Amino acid sequence: MDKQTIEGIDVRGKKVLVRVDFNVPLSSKDPADLITVTDDTRINAALPTLNYLLDQGAALILCSHLGRPKSPEDRQFAMDPVAERLQVLLDRPVQKMDQVVGPQVSAAAAALQSGEIMLLENTRFESGEKKNDPELAAALAELADVYVNDAFGSAHRAHASTAGVAQAMRAKGGACVAGYLMGKEIAALGTAAQNPPHPYVAIMGGAKISDKIKLIENLLDKADLVLIGGGMANTFLRAKGLETGTSLVEEEAVAEAERLLATAGDRLVLPVDVVITNEFTADAPADTVSADSIPAGKMALDIGPETLSLFTNKLAGAKLVAWNGPMGVFEFPRFAEGTFALARTLAGLVDQGAEVVIGGGDSAAAVHQAGLADQMSHVSTGGGASLEMLEGRTLPGIAALDDK
Ligand code: ADP
Ligand code: MG
Repeated sequence: MDKQTIEGIDVRGKKVLVRVDFNVPLSSKDPADLITVTDDTRINAALPTLNYLLDQGAALILCSHLGRPKSPEDRQFAMDPVAERLQVLLDRPVQKMDQVVGPQVSAAAAALQSGEIMLLENTRFESGEKKNDPELAAALAELADVYVNDAFGSAHRAHASTAGVAQAMRAKGGACVAGYLMGKEIAALGTAAQNPPHPYVAIMGGAKISDKIKLIENLLDKADLVLIGGGMANTFLRAKGLETGTSLVEEEAVAEAERLLATAGDRLVLPVDVVITNEFTADAPADTVSADSIPAGKMALDIGPETLSLFTNKLAGAKLVAWNGPMGVFEFPRFAEGTFALARTLAGLVDQGAEVVIGGGDSAAAVHQAGLADQMSHVSTGGGASLEMLEGRTLPGIAALDDK
């Protein structure tokens, strides 16, 4: 999965269409309010790519989706607050367009000079975006000479601005390449999914096992060991015939879990102790019991200390670790220790030279909350996209880019 990047092509004097991820949280859903961006992490994250292209003498046409608008009438999802913030962060004027494509946009794009920046309206204001409509894709490609995709979080969607546009750009002889953010995601997650170094240990947790069966199967295929924690572990404990009390168990996934246990043998490692409580609340009293003695009427909300040391032993010497899914309900401080302690163990492994890759929205949030995000080798910015990568799937937004 060696994809061409912005550093591999010449963009001097060219118009570059950049698909960015400016899907940021906003201060209000009421279009009558003065809506502002409440967290500009994603805009900041795009700056290295944008500044590089500007330094190279390109003219930039930026596009992104924002929220889930039903139509262009949904003005609360207009890109104006994003343009405002981008202008401040780049310290350059940003010309905000009120359409995605059309005569006004084409005229403005044609007049755009090297070093200038234009931001198109929310791509989802066009009904053709989610349908990957070839006409919309062609109209987008028509605006520029080169296409850059830096929106990893949308790469698992075959939309006009992520997939079709690349096809249209290539048809007219333009390059289609990855930005810095996309390049980093492909390098970290692509390696884990395709040609991992060994020993490779995968860690799975979180809530929904049924959504992640394919992921566990692929990990069992590629990794030497798969450690299971979090809510997901309960379904496996049940599959082993153990009492799980009122813990989160997906009954319809128990048979699958049995099958995985049978095929994987001791390469699938389950918790040996868990932190239990009476009810799903932040201040419910916590108690630690062995995983084979969860009392009826109690629920397991975290892994216990013995499980942590078991996992730490299994992780020793790993060259690569991929982690998806919190080890417990980390949103409640009393049940966060398993997740945070595991994050500390992983930070220690990075110090010893291991590659540690984190995927999944809640897992990334947990690592940030633990204050350990910059100590990991890579924390993916894409929730669903990172899971599909680890499943070994080809993402349409990545497949669409030029090979190196
Ligand atoms: P990700 O977004 O990283 O892929 P998931 O969405 O699968 O992760 O799971 C995250 C959620 O799992 C968190 O909200 C967390 O509270 C929940 N969770 C973790 N352990 C348990 C548990 N033992 N019981 C119930 N929920 C749990
Ligand atoms: Mg999640």
